[in-house]
Amino acid sequence: MDYLPLFLQLRSLPVVVVGGGRVAGRKIDLLRRSGAQVTVVAPELREELHKLALSGDLKYIPARFAEQHLDGVALVIAATNDPDVNAAVSNAARARRIPINVVDHPALSTFIFPAIVDRSPIIVAVGSGGESPVLARRVREQIESILPQKLGALARFMGERRKAVQLALGALARRPFWERIVGGVVGTRVLAGDEAGAEKAFESELRTSHLTTSPATGRNGLGEVYLIGAGPGDPDLLTLRALQLLQQADVVLYDRLVPDAVLERSRRDAERIFVGKEVGNHTVQDRIHELLVHYASKGLRVARLKGGDPFVFGRGGEEIEVLNRHGIPYISVPGITAALGASSYAGIPLTHRRLAQSVTFVAGHVLADESLDWRALAGSRQTVVFYMGVSHLDRIVTKLRESGAEAERPVAIVERATLPEQRTLRGTLETIREVARSAHVTAPALLIVGDVTAFTASEALMDQCHTGPLYEYF
Ligand code: SAH
Repeated sequence: MDYLPLFLQLRSLPVVVVGGGRVAGRKIDLLRRSGAQVTVVAPELREELHKLALSGDLKYIPARFAEQHLDGVALVIAATNDPDVNAAVSNAARARRIPINVVDHPALSTFIFPAIVDRSPIIVAVGSGGESPVLARRVREQIESILPQKLGALARFMGERRKAVQLALGALARRPFWERIVGGVVGTRVLAGDEAGAEKAFESELRTSHLTTSPATGRNGLGEVYLIGAGPGDPDLLTLRALQLLQQADVVLYDRLVPDAVLERSRRDAERIFVGKEVGNHTVQDRIHELLVHYASKGLRVARLKGGDPFVFGRGGEEIEVLNRHGIPYISVPGITAALGASSYAGIPLTHRRLAQSVTFVAGHVLADESLDWRALAGSRQTVVFYMGVSHLDRIVTKLRESGAEAERPVAIVERATLPEQRTLRGTLETIREVARSAHVTAPALLIVGDVTAFTASEALMDQCHTGPLYEYF
């Protein structure tokens, strides 16, 4: 280890930055966030630093660097574009044993700045020993994406309750208690921004903390359910929160539309249960309800992983009713619904200023249900997306035609959208049945009806040539 990582307390301590340009500005910003008393030494200052100096938030010495500027200083940074000045600052600081950083010059520095992820009070610092700041920043970005935005709030929430827990619990019970807080209902609530719910769950955990851990489950306390939208198939379309909760769940209930690549993002040792087919004389949905309640009541964290979005033809609403009835807390995480995935990956904009002003999602398998307003669905200048519609293609086309849609209305079928095998088939209301038959289309697939399905990249380019930038049209 070439450098020892440390967190330095600089609040109210005098710190000097030599240089008044952009790079110096970034360091000054960082130092001020840590509460240091910053003095900047430079013949000239860029404008925003001038403003800070005028408002008294920054001390300014308008001069070239001289050794006496380091009198009584706790830390110094050289950020000028003059190598001689930087070297002089480094020599003077080292002679006085003041920690010095010369920006982008590890050889002249006694400390270096890490790349940081700031979820104060949680701070992650990443260093490459000055070898490759670019790589350190890349690692920082990766960490940034896996740490929940509200991690700092969770740290504060716990910090504020440390005293109370110390009074209530013996030393040995405290650590497992806090583990449960971080990884259970309380943590999930705070991270989702629901501090009131977290407070209630915290009190309940504290009340029941004397119960010993259940040998059957390895956990005690409250169970909970994560209703997670897994998106249309491409695992990179999972949301960050979906990933975080998948990594935490003890049990994962998943159905047919969730591909292995998504399932693999769950915790290695989680129990994975396929709930896509009927077992005994249970309907699929009844069995799911039973399993949700069963596992959550044992104190486990249950991920209910659904294709697309849980609340778009996903029966998420029914599951919530059951959970509410049993008083089981849940978090729901939106997913990219199939229509949005298909639209994006097939290059079919769902709305378009010229072609479609509205978009409707329809469950194509409830055609017998006469409550559907077919005249409205057959109207022009809109996009209609039929889910679960491929096996009913014949009837959908007939109904639309009977209700006034013209035979030439463009349509597309997107099969296995966002997956490597995705296929997009285009046609019209007249031709699409034959197109689907000869291509042997199978589920899952979407039927998209409307002029947008005839939209092609070349048309986008034409639009761009005639009337301005492409993005205006989306
Ligand atoms: N909750 C899901 C929809 C479940 S209904 C969502 O929001 O996407 C199941 C139907 O969704 C399928 O019959 C099919 O029409 C559609 N679907 C789901 N995934 C799809 C995919 N990758 N490609 C095309 N259609 C898909």
